[in-house]
Amino acid sequence: MTFPGDEAVPITEPDGDVGGDPVCWLDRVCPDCGLFLTDRTASTCPRCGAARDR
Ligand SMILES: [Zn+2]
Repeated sequence: MTFPGDEAVPITEPDGDVGGDPVCWLDRVCPDCGLFLTDRTASTCPRCGAARDR
């Protein structure tokens, strides 16, 4: 990931977006059955069919 002439790009929180934060995936877990929804665009849970608010 080295780009010549691009060294002026500021590096902000290199590890701030690499998992570990429950809040990041909390909205991907079904509130009813707890299934982790990989497809976050799904409006309903593929396992129990519960509607998702967000
Ligand atoms: Zn579910």
